[in-house]
Amino acid sequence: MILRGVSLSPYTTIGIGGIGSYFALPKDLEELRYVLDFAKDRGLSIFPLGRGANTIFGDFDGLVVSMKNFRELRVKERDNLFYVWAGSGVPLKELVRIALKEDLDGMYKLAGFPATVGGAVAMNAGAFGYEISQHLKRVIFLDWDGQIQTANREELTFAYRSSPFPELGIVVNAEFVFPKADYRTKQEYSVIRSRRKATQPINLPTCGSTFKNPPGEYAGRLLEKVGMRGYRVGGVSFSEKHANFLVNLGGGTYEQVVRILEEAKKRVYEEFGIELQEEVRLVESGSPYGWKVCGT
Ligand SMILES: Cc1cc2nc3c(=O)[nH]c(=O)nc-3n(C[C@H](O)[C@H](O)[C@H](O)COP(=O)(O)OP(=O)(O)OC[C@H]3O[C@@H](n4cnc5c(N)ncnc54)[C@H](O)[C@@H]3O)c2cc1C
Repeated sequence: MILRGVSLSPYTTIGIGGIGSYFALPKDLEELRYVLDFAKDRGLSIFPLGRGANTIFGDFDGLVVSMKNFRELRVKERDNLFYVWAGSGVPLKELVRIALKEDLDGMYKLAGFPATVGGAVAMNAGAFGYEISQHLKRVIFLDWDGQIQTANREELTFAYRSSPFPELGIVVNAEFVFPKADYRTKQEYSVIRSRRKATQPINLPTCGSTFKNPPGEYAGRLLEKVGMRGYRVGGVSFSEKHANFLVNLGGGTYEQVVRILEEAKKRVYEEFGIELQEEVRLVESGSPYGWKVCGT
C-alpha cells in the first residue's frame, strides 16, 4: 500500500516531478491513519496531494499521500438551500456540475480548472470574485496527532489563496451550503469558459498562476513588463498566452522551474521593488510545504 521511490511527475498537471521516497493512496480513514503512523514512526514529512494542479515536485524525502480515493459525494436540498458533502478527492468539477444543474450561487465560477475539493479548500481556490470558502460550512480533517476533528467555517481563517490546511491536518471531507442564484448561471458560466480559453494556456501542461497577485497589482502584468512572457529555461517557459502561467513544453525539470522563478522574482524586484510570492507549491526535501508529523 505504501510505495517506495515513486516518480511524482504523473501526479501533477504540469508533469514535472522528482522522486518521492514514499507514496500512499489510502482508500479510507483507517488506511489514512495507518499512513500517518507509518510517517510518524519514521520521522517523515507528509505532503497531502489532491490533483497536483498547484504543485511542482523536486526530489522529496518524505511521504506523499494522495487523497484521490476519498470520493464520497452527497447532495441534499432543504428550504431552497443545497447541502453538499464532499470527500476531499472529489474533483471540483463535480461541484461545478451540481451548481450549474441547480443554478447555485458562486461555485460555477470555479469552472475550467483542475482541482480536488481538498486541494481547493487548502488553497482557498477562487476566480471571478468568488472563493471556495464563501459557502463552506465545515471541514472534517485528520489532525497531525491522528485525531478526527471538525471545524466550522467561523473557526477557520481563510484569505487570498490561503487556509489553515494542511497546517492543521489533512482534509477528509468538506460540507457546503449553497443558496440558489437569482439568475441563470449558465450564461455567466459560458462567458467564464470562453475567457479562460482565450487567456490561458489550458491545452498545455501547466499549474495555473505561478505567483500570487500582490495587493492592488497583477503578477502577470509585472512579469510581462519585465519581459517574462515566453521566457524559457530548458523545457519550462512562462506562457506566451499568460505571463503568470508556467508551462512544460516537454522534459521540464524542477531545477529549471526554480531557475526561471528566481529570474522572474529578481527582475520584478529590481524593476518595481515588489517581492513576488509563489502561489504554486514547490515541494522538495526540507520545503515548508511538507508537514512534519507531530511527535517526530
Ligand atoms: C489551467 C489552470 C488554471 C487554474 N486556475 C486557477 C484559478 O482560477 N483559481 C485558483 O484558485 N487556482 C487555479 N489553478 C490552480 C489549482 O487548480 C488550484 O490551486 C487548486 O485548488 C489545486 O487543487 P489540487 O487538488 O490540485 O491541489 P494540489 O496541487 O494537489 O495541492 C495544493 C495544496 O493543497 C494541499 N492539499 C491538497 N489536498 C489536501 C487535503 N486533502 N488536505 C490538506 N491539504 C491538502 C497540498 O498539500 C498543497 O499544499 C489553476 C490551475 C490550472 C492548471
